[in-house]
Amino acid sequence: MGVTKFKMAPISIASKRAYIRLLQWALPLSLFVLSTAYEFGEHQIGHGDPIAALVNAEVLLFGIVGPCAVAAAIGYIRRMVDAQDEAQITLERLNRELEGKVVERTLALEHQNGELARANAQLRSLDEMKSEFVAMVSHELRAPLTILNGALEVATQDKALPQTSRGTLAIMASESKRLTDFVQTILDLSRIEAGKLRVNPGPVAIRPLLEQAAGVILSQSARPLIWDHCDDLPPAWADEVLLEEVLRNLIRNADKYSPPGQPIHLSACLQDGRRIRIGVRDHGHGIAPEAQTRIFDRFDRGDARESAPAGWGLGLYLARRLIEAQSGAIGVRSPVAPDHPMPGSEFYIFVPIAEIAEDE
Ligand code: ADP
Repeated sequence: MGVTKFKMAPISIASKRAYIRLLQWALPLSLFVLSTAYEFGEHQIGHGDPIAALVNAEVLLFGIVGPCAVAAAIGYIRRMVDAQDEAQITLERLNRELEGKVVERTLALEHQNGELARANAQLRSLDEMKSEFVAMVSHELRAPLTILNGALEVATQDKALPQTSRGTLAIMASESKRLTDFVQTILDLSRIEAGKLRVNPGPVAIRPLLEQAAGVILSQSARPLIWDHCDDLPPAWADEVLLEEVLRNLIRNADKYSPPGQPIHLSACLQDGRRIRIGVRDHGHGIAPEAQTRIFDRFDRGDARESAPAGWGLGLYLARRLIEAQSGAIGVRSPVAPDHPMPGSEFYIFVPIAEIAEDE
């Protein structure tokens, strides 16, 4: 059987105040009438003297002082209730104002969010256009540069030319190669940033790849190479073309940032049985500890002195992005020989071995 619940209608503040005001006057008055009538009756009937009864101290106490005290107590309660009502009214008004402000701010934020999303979309499309443009220009530059490099290579070999002309041609060939490398860097970076870099991993033999990279970069240099190669090195799992590019970057820097004639050490060893550590170590001026993490950022040139070799601060950034795209890692250790005037640095990369990567 259902239970019927009775609910009292809420009393408005005005009627509550009217009830209390009525009570404040009605209750003491009723008390006065009742007690006076009682005392009057008691004394008239008891003593037969109504005048004495009226001035009697009991009438004064129960008929006047008592009701006055009750009126004062109700007055005090009334003031407290009034103060509470005022506080409630103020609180409700503040709540309404607050809700209004929240709605207003929410609308403003939604509007700003919309504007930000639109600006973001515009920036994205501009960025894509920029990357496409850079990729197109670099691609168009690469083909004629390759032809130029080949022609200059052949011309420098021509024994019929005077020595001075061959010297000039050799400088042109080296500058053209530098330009080709730079264009290739820009092309790779624009591919990476547009998310269009294609990685084709497969088993790669590290020693021949290191030899090839060193051969290309140091072909014109008399710098000695020192090999520190571990035996029975398993093949790595990497994109051969991209990995060679990373190695070329590190060897190029070792050559660029160390005095002529100083050797470069190349090493490759198995580490933790899971990955290969490839190291390129030089006898250069080393890298300050505070610069060692930021040199892998875009456009960061650790050595900002005017005497520093020319560069754009893109080589190590590209190397990091390329190696990370192949599930590898890159780092630097410097100084390698702290007490030496040329303390040197060692750049190292980790690449997974083919056996493990294929299993995973
Ligand atoms: P770039 O050589 O064009 O400046 P990189 O990104 O290749 O750009 O290198 C960033 C910075 O790291 C260089 O400017 C240089 O200060 C420092 N650096 C890189 N390789 C070496 C090295 N082998 N020895 C000393 N400093 C190096």
